[in-house]
Amino acid sequence: MKRKILVTSALPYANGSIHLGHLVEYIQTDIWVRFQKMQGHECHYVCADDTHGTPIMLRAQTEGITPEALIERVWHEHKADFDGFHVGFDNFYSTNSPETRHYADDIYLKLKQAGLIEVRSVEQFYDPVKEMFLPDRFIKGECPKCHAKDQYGDSCEVCGTTYSPTDLIEPYSAVSGAKPVRKSSDHYFFKLSDQRCRDFLKQWIAPPHVQAEAANKLGEWLEAGLSDWDISRDAPYFGFEIPDAPGKYYYVWLDAPIGYMGSFRNLCDKLAATAGQPAESIFDEYWSKDSATEVYHFIGKDILYFHALFWPAELEHAGYRTPTGVFAHGFLTVNGQKMSKSRGTFITAASYLKHLNPEHLRYYFAAKLNSSIEDIDLSLEDFTARVNSDLIGKYVNIASRAAGFIAKRFDGKVTLRNSATDRELLNQLHQATGKIYASYDAREYGAAIREIMRLTDLANQYVDTNKPWELAKDSGKESRLHEVCSTCLNAFCFLTRYLKPVLPRLAEDVERFLNVSPLKWETAYTVLPEGHAINPYQHLMTRIDPKQVESMIEENKASLTPPSPASRGGAGGEGAHPVRHGEKQAHAASPSSQGGSPLPNPLPKGEGANVKGACSDLGANVGAIAPLVSIDDFMKIDLRVARIVNAEHLEGAEKLLKLTLDIGEENPRTVFAGIKSAYAPESLIGRHTVMVANLAPRKMKFGVSEGMVLAAGGDGGLYILGPDQGAKPGMRVK
Ligand SMILES: [Zn+2]
Repeated sequence: MKRKILVTSALPYANGSIHLGHLVEYIQTDIWVRFQKMQGHECHYVCADDTHGTPIMLRAQTEGITPEALIERVWHEHKADFDGFHVGFDNFYSTNSPETRHYADDIYLKLKQAGLIEVRSVEQFYDPVKEMFLPDRFIKGECPKCHAKDQYGDSCEVCGTTYSPTDLIEPYSAVSGAKPVRKSSDHYFFKLSDQRCRDFLKQWIAPPHVQAEAANKLGEWLEAGLSDWDISRDAPYFGFEIPDAPGKYYYVWLDAPIGYMGSFRNLCDKLAATAGQPAESIFDEYWSKDSATEVYHFIGKDILYFHALFWPAELEHAGYRTPTGVFAHGFLTVNGQKMSKSRGTFITAASYLKHLNPEHLRYYFAAKLNSSIEDIDLSLEDFTARVNSDLIGKYVNIASRAAGFIAKRFDGKVTLRNSATDRELLNQLHQATGKIYASYDAREYGAAIREIMRLTDLANQYVDTNKPWELAKDSGKESRLHEVCSTCLNAFCFLTRYLKPVLPRLAEDVERFLNVSPLKWETAYTVLPEGHAINPYQHLMTRIDPKQVESMIEENKASLTPPSPASRGGAGGEGAHPVRHGEKQAHAASPSSQGGSPLPNPLPKGEGANVKGACSDLGANVGAIAPLVSIDDFMKIDLRVARIVNAEHLEGAEKLLKLTLDIGEENPRTVFAGIKSAYAPESLIGRHTVMVANLAPRKMKFGVSEGMVLAAGGDGGLYILGPDQGAKPGMRVK
């Protein structure tokens, strides 16, 4: 039976680059879509850049361009990245489109009609200089707990505490530096707490709509009580103005997911031409309340709350169909750790493509992916070994071992004649069809790959047993050689068909080599016909040289930029999905996840992917912050309180003073410090400072320096650090 399926991946925010963490989802979705298309089903895969919001507006201002120009540029970057990884969207669009506006208005007005929109006054921080309300991530100040300076309005990077921006000590605007004031404004809320939403969701949040593990979590959230959702923002804002509320704009959850509909409606216009059906009716076939079609959303686990609670409730009460399934996946780690800029494992799509074959990553992700929301790990060593042994060593090898004989000895033609053992191999390959089908359909790609590799092993055993290279030496065995090599190519054709959803480009090359029309999923036993001519074998895939991986890592280290707010901390952190989450709603009870859950807090930090640009007028003179280090990295540096026992000039030294430092050891240490320009030696004697006590000793012109004294410096002078009163020599600083 031909199914009608609409599939989406989450919308990447148009304010940052696509990286390998994002690609887990796009590759996962693309494999599923290609698999469904191979079945002959009607399957549409749509996505769009999510383009609205304060970070986009401010970044465009900083760059001196319009938001439209910014999102246009980023759209092309994203499109090139997706094309590079063979992510085959049927439509990759933008949420800043008339279609999305149309459906946002439609849904909003229907929800309002249903009595599910409420206006409430909300007090928020307001930047009086920039004349705008500030999202949490655009407010900084001192942590109320540990008193670290310059912390964001939602959580402290130093001690990890989460709080409201109102809790910050000495808050300031990260946009203008001004002291924010409290100001009230009317906000529009979607009443998710309404009994109707609750009753509907109670029956909706169950398999197969969501995965079993997700259903449990969603049930907990529902039991804890859902909060109403703030769906508006005040001008100035880049987005769609709410039709009956001048100066108010839709906030992310009332326009971003609707971007799926907008993108699909745009696709319908293109389909209408060939379908002989009006665009509107194709759209309705998929989105009307009584639709018999299927709609699936692939998402990261960090946005489950929105896609499995907010979104279906919104659709249900606006008179649309709800999703058939919401499939959440986990985050990506690299070498067992969170992706890291300093380790070079924060790998952008573009940099990967410069060094490595995209299908290698597609294969590796497929081998690791299953239908759960567990995180997956990209171990670079395992990646290299697995691609080389599975794809090149096992799979491609089957073709290369047989193709030459067919070309040279048999005029490039295969035979259908075969022996019982030949048939047995091909039967085994054929009989696995159902099992592999079931694995792909259930998103158990790892299981599909394991089965395909088991079959690949069988095919290689067949080659080793039949030894075509020996048959080739014996002129009496010409006919057997023909059979064996033909069997190999048929086996290769089976395996290619099974791998095609994962390796679409390679499959095309194989189709050309085997001289066959695009491979479809066959349930019948299908082999190359008698006398079928193949094309000369051309090299299909190259091994990964570990040096390629190394140079990719080096390049990503080299391109270090200061961490942006959204790339730090938070639920998903650097490995998170590119979508916007919305800042924490201080005025809504946080439905935060409880400890031990594999699901992160549904309300992660930061409105966008990158507010670096927004802060540039503030930080222009500060200089870039160094790459993040782990606490373990930091703890390697042994800092101690030191008493300056003596300080003296050095004959012939322009910058250095000789310091004698007591850190509680038997003998005081000698340190040469470049602070002569700022301090008279006698002024230092008796003072306490901080030194690096485990710095490797360094031989200098005047002797061996046994450490380093900490000082702040720059254009504005030089200031050695001192601990507060009471600190004793030798105390550890951490
Ligand atoms: Zn703190």
